[in-house]
Amino acid sequence: MTSNYPPGVSGNEYAIAGPDYEEGSDELCPFVRRWEEDGEPVELECGEPTVEQGYAGDRWLVCTAEESHTTDLPRQDDSDEDRMIDAAMEVADAKRERLETADW
Ligand SMILES: [Zn+2]
Repeated sequence: MTSNYPPGVSGNEYAIAGPDYEEGSDELCPFVRRWEEDGEPVELECGEPTVEQGYAGDRWLVCTAEESHTTDLPRQDDSDEDRMIDAAMEVADAKRERLETADW
């Protein structure tokens, strides 16, 4: 059956370190349970509460009822973070420049 690792993660690093973050989610588990009843295939969405976990920029939902129910989420757009880092670097550069050119 499915492994307990989230999608895209198969190594030991995750197992040792765990997710980067974990937070409650309003999403209900979209995992589709499939089984057979009287020889007929049955499909039903799990619908249990989930928590959102993140690791190395990937995000996914983990079912609170069944650990193997993981659902991929779109990767976090980190361009905002990049912009903030760029801005912080510029401020730091400007400060250094002021120090270097200061007339002691
Ligand atoms: Zn589930």
